[in-house]
Amino acid sequence: MPIFITLFLAAALGVTLIKLHNHQHAIRRLHQSLLKKQPFLRENRPGLSGTVWDQLCSLSNDLITEVAHLQQLRNGQLAQLEATLGSLQEAVLIVDSNNYILLGNKALQDIFPQAVNILGQRLELVLHSVAFLNYVEAVRRSAGQPQHEIEFINGVISTWVEVTGATIQTMNDQKAPWTLFVLHNITKQKKLAAVRKEFVANVSHELRTPLSVIKGYVETLVDGAEDIPAEDRARFLKTIQRHTERLNSLLEDLLALSRLESINPGIRREPVDLNTLFSNIIDDYRARPTGKAHALDFIADHAITTVPMDPLKITQAVENLIDNALKYTPKNSKILLTVTSKGSNEVIVCLQDNGPGIPKEDIPHIFERFYRVDKGRSREKGGTGLGLSIVKHIVQLHSGRVWVESQEGQGASFFFSLPLHSI
Ligand code: ADP
Repeated sequence: MPIFITLFLAAALGVTLIKLHNHQHAIRRLHQSLLKKQPFLRENRPGLSGTVWDQLCSLSNDLITEVAHLQQLRNGQLAQLEATLGSLQEAVLIVDSNNYILLGNKALQDIFPQAVNILGQRLELVLHSVAFLNYVEAVRRSAGQPQHEIEFINGVISTWVEVTGATIQTMNDQKAPWTLFVLHNITKQKKLAAVRKEFVANVSHELRTPLSVIKGYVETLVDGAEDIPAEDRARFLKTIQRHTERLNSLLEDLLALSRLESINPGIRREPVDLNTLFSNIIDDYRARPTGKAHALDFIADHAITTVPMDPLKITQAVENLIDNALKYTPKNSKILLTVTSKGSNEVIVCLQDNGPGIPKEDIPHIFERFYRVDKGRSREKGGTGLGLSIVKHIVQLHSGRVWVESQEGQGASFFFSLPLHSI
């Protein structure tokens, strides 16, 4: 090949390579400009000219300007929403069409303390509830979704929330609206409703047995009044009497509990000489037939002068403990009531017996309403399952604590504390 052709081809190749390099360089700069949303300047494409490049340059710059404008609008709209919704009592959450969180106000964090720095995060990573994600989708699909009650679980903590959702049209994007949710924490109401339901079920159950026994015997007596031998009739009437008394104690305990749990439980504190009060209670029991069958004692603490309390209520609490000791320990058991001062802040009252005691697994539940270790034995002894719950309420209304120490087969010691100074 002649030398000049070779030289020409080499020069043409050189020029092409330089152009290629310039194009590559310019495309990289364009890419960076788009990423940084900065204008793509003419200086960024040295050596490149022509209509195509000019058009590309101006289109990219228009696009960048447009995006910046939309961003500004969106930030403005968010800032406006934040200013309006941020201080609302209701929890508010706004997500975009891809479930990225745009806004979560202070009240939202009060409901979900784990939801910190949530802006820009994906919803499902912050609030774990498939039901909520489904609700978000439902709201997005069609507005006017009814309120929903949703449970959120975070480890062992369950939070119930009542949520209402609506889509909001954004100024910048009509096709991908944001979704706004207003959330109310209803965990407390849910728990209360569950407790109430359980309570009603328990009460109905407790009422049903004595009532059906009474009904059965009354019907038998009415139907065969003439034919029933006098002995059987007396037995039936005794059974009716026993179950009527059971109903009566149940109603009395229920009334006592409901008064103690009411907004105004009627606690009247006055300085009371605890040693005299307790000594009188024990003397009173010793005089009763049930008390005579046991060895009842009281150990006073003469360092204690008076304690601020409601004497009637504290008498009721101590009597419930003594009644239990009498009920659940065999004849001739020792039942000892003691009172001791603990520092200058509180006194500790203890009712100790040497009866069967309470199994370890039952101890954490023993003060719950209707909790019994042995249901049959409690009912047979006329128990309602509410005695210890009443004790707990009375003590708590005095700002005291209540607890039990026991080992199965080795007796039980029920304690409660009473503050020496009114709180
Ligand atoms: P109840 O009316 O059944 O006595 P309580 O609330 O007073 O209801 O007591 C709850 C349960 O605690 C009782 O059913 C009984 O099983 C147990 N218990 C209470 N006191 C004693 C005690 N001194 N010794 C053994 N068990 C007891």
